[in-house]
Amino acid sequence: MLPTHFENALPVLKKLEEAGYQAYFVGGAVRDLLMKRPTNDVDIATSALPEEVKAVFPKTIDVGIEHGTVVVIFNETPYEITTFRSEEEYKDFRRPESVTFITSLKEDLQRRDFTINAIAMDSSGGIHDPFGGESDIHAKIIRTVGSAEERFKEDALRMMRAVRFMAQLDFEMESETLESVRRNGANIRFVAIERLSAEFEKLLSGSFKKASIASLVATGLYKYLPALQRKVLESAASLPVNRLTNEQMWLLVSFLSKGEENLMEHWRLPSKKIKYISKAVKFLSGRMEREWDRYTLYLAGISTAYDVEEVYRVLKLSDQTGRAELEKLYDELPIRNRGELAVTGNDLMKWSGKSGGPWIKEILDNTEKAVINSIIPNQKSTIREWLGLCNHQ
Ligand code: ATP
Ligand code: MG
Repeated sequence: MLPTHFENALPVLKKLEEAGYQAYFVGGAVRDLLMKRPTNDVDIATSALPEEVKAVFPKTIDVGIEHGTVVVIFNETPYEITTFRSEEEYKDFRRPESVTFITSLKEDLQRRDFTINAIAMDSSGGIHDPFGGESDIHAKIIRTVGSAEERFKEDALRMMRAVRFMAQLDFEMESETLESVRRNGANIRFVAIERLSAEFEKLLSGSFKKASIASLVATGLYKYLPALQRKVLESAASLPVNRLTNEQMWLLVSFLSKGEENLMEHWRLPSKKIKYISKAVKFLSGRMEREWDRYTLYLAGISTAYDVEEVYRVLKLSDQTGRAELEKLYDELPIRNRGELAVTGNDLMKWSGKSGGPWIKEILDNTEKAVINSIIPNQKSTIREWLGLCNHQ
């Protein structure tokens, strides 16, 4: 029995076959299936030209017709279907400007980056593996299809992909491939930052990123990536970082990269993510000096606090998460946000007869802090009294 996402996609292969074309599952999904690793999306390769694919299925979306890719919507699920192709005309270590469509599966597999990614599976479950990908999977090896030197000169991004697969799969680079990354690393400076960033994000999400980060240093690749200092990566690679999430990794790297102001901007992270991590960096700096208190936890919010604490624990080489303590402290908070405070700016204006202004924020901040620290209960009348006593009006 195939995993459900393959089962669900089988009719897509069969429809292409019935129309007289070849069609296979390819790429990461087949690799992950052979590794018994969960994946979500399956990629399909076919001998049908993009226009022919569109003629077979009623619902399609053009995503990259010039590269031969059509998205087919089948049972409400999108599938990327790419026409067999060989790539030509590499310029300046970048992706080819034109592609040639072909009808040979083997040639299509040959243009793929690594042997583990150059395996196809047909609709009967038959494996087509002309470059020994399965045996490299078993040996846990990342090896280019054909000469590493040529393949990395064609597309320098592949070097970054090699390091990214180390982080996801716990594989090592085969020695020729590794040597070639060492020799050609400088060429990744010609690769568009968006492509590098997509790979780096996957690297930072990988369960085996520790070794992968060490490899960025050992191969010298890091020198050609934006804003990554050697000492920062060396520190990260010396810590138990495999357990950290992508956001926690950014938090760690940002924290360690003092003076590298625009690290996350260089990597073109979404501004919402930059904001979240920048805020967390401040709480992490505080956490390095002192324990959590109620008010700091309130200001951070529980999910930021979890991220901060996890990175703090990694920096301290602790194998405990500290989650339970944080949860307990959070449970004790009388309020979790300003909206839960029993008084509002309007109350203050009504009680004092004064009009709005910065004084309101100041009093609300103080009141909030007093409520959180259980100096006063979160109760309108008591707060009013307390404010009077404190001479705040
Ligand atoms: P993931 O599980 O992260 O999606 P993947 O192996 O599917 O990993 P993708 O980036 O989705 O990686 O690419 C799909 C397939 O396309 C790869 O398995 C590989 O066969 C091929 N491929 C992708 N990028 C390149 C490249 N730069 N050079 C050659 N082949 C590539
Ligand atoms: Mg994929």
